[in-house]
Amino acid sequence: MGWCPVLNLENFQTSHINSEPSTIYIDTKEYLRQFEAYRGELDQIGFILTGSITKRFMRCGTVGCRCQTDPKALHGPYYEWTRKVQGKTVSVRLKKGEAEQLMEWIENKRHFYRIISKMEKTTLEAVNLIRI
Ligand SMILES: [Zn+2]
Repeated sequence: MGWCPVLNLENFQTSHINSEPSTIYIDTKEYLRQFEAYRGELDQIGFILTGSITKRFMRCGTVGCRCQTDPKALHGPYYEWTRKVQGKTVSVRLKKGEAEQLMEWIENKRHFYRIISKMEKTTLEAVNLIRI
């Protein structure tokens, strides 16, 4: 581990100073170490969920209800989990505690993909390293 396997198989010949080709090995150890650290971060992430949570206050349809005129008298808060299912937007009404839990799982997904992005970036840096 740590040495780029491709380069271990195909040694690069870089100099012929002593009429004897020398071989260098490109060390990707640092990148692998970083990559593994990100993998460790992924391990810490729990459920991942798609969608978004909205919290809203609403007017009702009751004639004469204070919510019709007083913004402070709006009903709610109501929590909704909204996501796309096979191209269609689906919303589910949630209780506050459910909304809080799902928000955490949605944030987990964002975190998950941020880490994946960093892993790809690290891999690209390793690619740049081996492409002399
Ligand atoms: Zn009302």
